[in-house]
Formats: sequence, structure tokens, C-alpha cells
Amino acid sequence: MLSQTTATKSVCRLAPSPTGAQHLGNARTFLIAYWSARAQNARLLLRIEDIDSPRVKPWATQQAIEDLAWLGIEHDGSPIIQTQRTELYQELLDRLLADDRVYPCTCSRKDIETAASAPHEQRPPSAPSSDAELTVDAETTIYPGTCSGWRFGEAMPEEGSYCLRFRIDPAPMSFDDQIAGRVHCVPTTAIGDFPVTRKEGVAAYQLAVVVDDIDAGVTEVVRGDDLLVSTFRQLQIYHYLDAPPPTYAHVPLVVGEDGRRLAKRHGDTRLSQYREQGVAPETIVAWAARSAMGTQETFPSQTETAGWDLRRWHDEMIARFDWSQISRERVCFNESDGFGG
Ligand code: GLU
Repeated sequence: MLSQTTATKSVCRLAPSPTGAQHLGNARTFLIAYWSARAQNARLLLRIEDIDSPRVKPWATQQAIEDLAWLGIEHDGSPIIQTQRTELYQELLDRLLADDRVYPCTCSRKDIETAASAPHEQRPPSAPSSDAELTVDAETTIYPGTCSGWRFGEAMPEEGSYCLRFRIDPAPMSFDDQIAGRVHCVPTTAIGDFPVTRKEGVAAYQLAVVVDDIDAGVTEVVRGDDLLVSTFRQLQIYHYLDAPPPTYAHVPLVVGEDGRRLAKRHGDTRLSQYREQGVAPETIVAWAARSAMGTQETFPSQTETAGWDLRRWHDEMIARFDWSQISRERVCFNESDGFGG
């Protein structure tokens, strides 16, 4: 049974998805998570989020582990592997089903789009409404509720033809993010009933991440701000379980000069590629450190940091770490200020 670990200590985690190589943007998020964890003397877990099986690449787990070691990011204990934890996810799914908090949904993506009377456009979270407040809106079409009339005890559709969808609590929600400030959402228009399994029956990310974080007693989640809206889905599950959620820090994404999320078109920013080219890891760590905290007047100049090795960079960042000082700006990566090699 899913039990809450009594938190005697802060617990943080790194959660790479081995669906491809880890890039510069991932490195920046992992580094910030690492500095924060060490600054609060927390345990730092490594969790491999490999349940998205069709997209998982067999080489990517080992490569992510090597990338982290290369950057000098040490984690505690053995990696936690999601594909070895499916029974735990199933326990929660059975409980949700018996409680009528999920229902089988046989709709295809097309059905959902056609049925939605006012399709929401693909768009990023709305701009901050005030300096410290943000209201998020839908990223995709909100599920129109076609299959939601199903009640526990009724016949299930054919195996493999449905996903389980979580019935959201429609009450407005908010949480305090360490970087974004107070974030609000109206669940009925921003998230809607969302899948907690895939059609093959495997637990979906939203459910696995909550089960794993509760099971490990995670107290702080640091991740990319592309997951800001997903946090509300996860908070719905925390509320259902009556479990205290962790604190969140959604780190702004790294974008290219065109303002779009860093991708292949912006050049090869895979960490493995920098490693192969002989780029010094300090270069990446220094870039991440300056972009995260470099606007502080007290931050040492380039001349002062010229001789810092990897350990020194980490020690300095851990000693200085303070969420209120972490930049809220999206970081622009410019290939010309790239890392040579
Ligand atoms: N596995 C996700 C990623 O690589 C992170 C999920 C999380 O931190 O909750 O983007």
C-alpha cells in the first residue's frame, strides 16, 4: 500500500526521461536542483522516468547517468527505475477506480477535438498577471467529458481500447512556486479530466510521478516550466490522497535566439556531444550559474571565476543558493556563445 514516508529530512530528486539525449536545458535544471538540494542538506534521488515505453531509447539511461557524473552532480543511493514500480502504480489505479475517481475513456484524440465546442489553442501559460501572480490556461483541448457518465461496477470496455481518466475537482486551485510566484488555475478550463493510464493500461506520467514522489518522501520538485500546468493535475492527485504536496520550483526553459524551446534547429546541444568534443564541464556549469544568478551585483566577475574548477563552482553555488535570487527569465542560448569544443 502506498504509504507516506515520514519526512525526517528534505528529499529532492532528478528525474530524467530516457526518451532521448539530455540537452543543455536539462543540464541547467539538474544543476539548479542539485545546488538547491545540497544547500538544504537534502537527500538527492535519481529517478529514471522510463515508463513512456514507445519513446524510451535503450542507450539513454546510461547516457543520462554519465552526463550527470560529468557535470559533477552526485546523487544519493541507487537510481529508482519507474518500470520496476508498476505494481505500486496499479495499487493506486485500483483504488481510484473503486472510488469512482477515474473512468475508462475510449475517445480518440480526434473524437475529443471534434466534440469540444470551443477548442483551445496550443499556447504557453499566459503572461504573469502581476509581478508575483500567474494564471495558467489550457495547453491542449479540454476533454469534453464524453465518457464520464461511466460509474464503478459497470462493464469495462475491451482491454487495450481505453485509458483511465481522472475526474477533476473543479474548485479553483493555486500554489506558490519558488520561481514563478503564486500560480492560479481554474481546473475546468485549464486541465479538464486527464488520463492517468495509457491505452495499453500502463500508468501515465502524471500518476507515476505523484506515487514516486510520495513514496520517496520528496519535499521539493525542481523541473522545467513546461510542466507548470501539469503540476495542477498532480496536485489533484495529492488532494485525492490527502497527501501534502512538495514545494515546486519551475525553472524557465532555455530557448534559442528565435525565442523557441531549444531544439535541434538551434544546433547540437546534447551533453554527450559536448563531452565527446572535449568541452570542459566547468564551461557548462559556469553558463548555468551565471544565467541563474549572474545578475546579482555580488556575483564574481569573469576574471575572478577564471580559475574555478568544477568543485569550486558547485561549492560557490551551493553556498550562495537562494530561490529568491534565481532568475525568472527564459534563458536564451546563442550558438555563437556556445561551448566551442
Ligand atoms: N521526466 C521529466 C522530464 O525529463 C521530469 C518530470 C518531473 O520532474 O516531474 O522532463
